Amino acid sequence: MWSARTRAILAGRPAAADGQPANTPLVPASAMGLDYSREVGTPTWAAFETAVGSLEGGIATAFASGMATVTAVLDLLPAGATVAVPVYSYAGTRGALDHAHNQGKITVRRIEPTDTDAWIAAAADADLLWLETPTNPTLDVMDLDAILSAADTAAKTTDRRPLTVVDNTFATPLGQQPLAHGADVVVHSVTKFIGGHSDLLLGVTVTAPHRGDLAQALVDARTRTGATPGTLESWLALRGLRTLGVRLAEASSTAAFLVDKLSGHPAVTHVRYPGSGAMVAFDLADGDAAERVCAALELVHNATSLGGVETTIERRAHLPGDAHVPAGLLRLSVGLEDPADLWRDLESALAGETAQTS
Ligand SMILES: *Cc1c(COP(=O)(O)O)cnc(C)c1O
Repeated sequence: MWSARTRAILAGRPAAADGQPANTPLVPASAMGLDYSREVGTPTWAAFETAVGSLEGGIATAFASGMATVTAVLDLLPAGATVAVPVYSYAGTRGALDHAHNQGKITVRRIEPTDTDAWIAAAADADLLWLETPTNPTLDVMDLDAILSAADTAAKTTDRRPLTVVDNTFATPLGQQPLAHGADVVVHSVTKFIGGHSDLLLGVTVTAPHRGDLAQALVDARTRTGATPGTLESWLALRGLRTLGVRLAEASSTAAFLVDKLSGHPAVTHVRYPGSGAMVAFDLADGDAAERVCAALELVHNATSLGGVETTIERRAHLPGDAHVPAGLLRLSVGLEDPADLWRDLESALAGETAQTS
């Protein structure tokens, strides 16, 4: 088998033959003969799903957005199910879980991402372990192997196994393949690194190859809820996926450079970096300092979202769903600009700030 980086280029491409297109065509069609596209998909979705499935090592199902994958997974749960979710994780995911909790449909338990013992305990009695690593926005790394093997142990000793889901958006399919560690389902906000250009909304689930039942249940949820991927979005996302390898390598190298510079800056109290990838978070003395720095930046976009070719920064605690995040934490999504320009911009915006609380 070719390496993942090569498969990102090859997978889902039509076979090379005279007269055949080099790329999967954009097929905008609501019907494929007597089959309805909401139910059977289109060749454009299928090509994107083939490519992501190849990288994650499972069966991919594309959805209208990352949040549509979250609600499709929740749709698989029986009434009264218990769901464990990291305290620090995508705010929209926690919002969807809280909504279902408040409606009396499920019970939600929040666990510190790095409290592995608490996750192992949850594996014994929860119905769903929702894992996200690195987490948004604190970039904590969860012990996937320990938690996923605790789920296996629960299956042997209690004869019930929690469903294990990993939100792999921050790591990307090239950075980490949770199915190989024993997860049942991987979800991605394709909107972020896979799309890579901040020009689409899309999601994808990938189910372990031996869980064809789960893959079918997710397709059924998509059909029932109508959370189908857009054709243009699927085509653009596949185009984005082709360059994920080179984008991620470049952004990771720039991220490591910026982490080094930020770590030595007197105004920065804490740098959070999992050691690879394009996401960096760093803390300033307080929320006001963080807001001042966002306002002073000229090159780095003060904008929400992440994973694009352009570098973006956001103080997450300004969002109601992330009010518990440290007030001075800034989340940086490193793009593809010249690293020296990025540091020049950050250094000049940080000038005048000190580590003291004002
Ligand atoms: C953005 C994001 C989501 C939600 O995806 P949408 O495409 O915005 O619906 C889920 N998880 C993580 C980690 C995200 O960053």
